[in-house]
Amino acid sequence: MSEHASTAAVPLLDLQGQYAPLRDDILAAITRVCDSQRFIMGAEITSLESELAAMLGVRHTVAVSSGTDALLLALMALGIGPGDEVITTTYSFFATAGAIVRLGGRPVLVDIDPTTFNIDTAAVARAITPKTKAILPVHLFGLCADMAPILSAAERAGIPVVEDAAQAIGSSYHGRPAGGMGAFGCFSFFPSKNLGAFGDAGLVTTNDDALAGKARLLRVHGMEPKYYHHLVGANFRMDALQAAVLRVKAPHLAAWTEARRVNAARYVRLFRERGLSSVIGLPSEPQGLHHIFNQFVIRVPDRDRLKAHLDRERVGAEIYYPVPFHQQPCFADLRYRTGDFPHAERAAAETLALPIYSELTLDQQQRVVDVIASFLAERGSDVAPDWTAV
Ligand SMILES: *Cc1c(COP(=O)(O)O)cnc(C)c1O
Repeated sequence: MSEHASTAAVPLLDLQGQYAPLRDDILAAITRVCDSQRFIMGAEITSLESELAAMLGVRHTVAVSSGTDALLLALMALGIGPGDEVITTTYSFFATAGAIVRLGGRPVLVDIDPTTFNIDTAAVARAITPKTKAILPVHLFGLCADMAPILSAAERAGIPVVEDAAQAIGSSYHGRPAGGMGAFGCFSFFPSKNLGAFGDAGLVTTNDDALAGKARLLRVHGMEPKYYHHLVGANFRMDALQAAVLRVKAPHLAAWTEARRVNAARYVRLFRERGLSSVIGLPSEPQGLHHIFNQFVIRVPDRDRLKAHLDRERVGAEIYYPVPFHQQPCFADLRYRTGDFPHAERAAAETLALPIYSELTLDQQQRVVDVIASFLAERGSDVAPDWTAV
């Protein structure tokens, strides 16, 4: 290495470290699929489904083509269509709202809780109307939304809950697994998620036998048997190659998650040791919840200048997400305005995700914290923000 470790680049995510020790097993699994020449459905898919059902603590899993398609499939199985309202957060990855709109539904957006970044449950209850057909909370960054009030509001209204658990595989809420609380859970195996495939893949979970059957049917154009179509579905199948890769990786997920949690605790300690824990808003883990830290997201003053500073110092960081749904150009016809959801707008302006992947070293974390500390020292602490007031 030509550089001293303390000034080396720190990537936001480095998948090589995870791949290297599994390389032989993964290549063997890929070879197994190639040698079988069975690329569509088959044993890799059914084996992955039963292995993941056991691992996640759900009755049924349906392997699909992406997290986006998992959301679309779940909403289709629940019959969401033109004119239906689906309540969701304004602060998430685009697919959450996109899936509703693609079915002709209307996303009824609500603000977030400023400490967890998850959907504001009081606002959810207020948003329910006779047209509401589902509630779609997101377990953002790996922390479950506050599901108890959401589930009871849904039960009172007689409508289903769909969990967008794309970022939350293995997380839990008072002992209940992400994806096992609503009518459906939707997961993504996008490579940057905690359990990443070698391309696009996703999963739908449910504890309801009838809904599982409907989701399976919709996954294959509503076809059963061949060329007899009961429902208009789509091609939502996961490739057998992706399933084979995921079957090698899945048994390691718990250890990877634990490493992320250790890294998160280490950041908190490092920021505290430098006296920065009041200047920087650190992630919280409410009592009874198990955070899996798909992202480690902080609030910082002068976020955009800090991001530029980190870029210059070659420290990976990312803004999730700079524009809430209600301010997206493609949703202009929903007629929301800037100012409608102040907590989400503040989060969009103040948050920054830091490297948190399992293989991150203490040296690398020290470097991340050093670079942030030097920026804050140069900037001065004239306007120390009061995060407790958000
Ligand atoms: C990643 C993600 C999705 C979409 O998953 P893809 O596999 O990329 O289609 C949906 N919702 C959230 C919250 C996500 O983070």
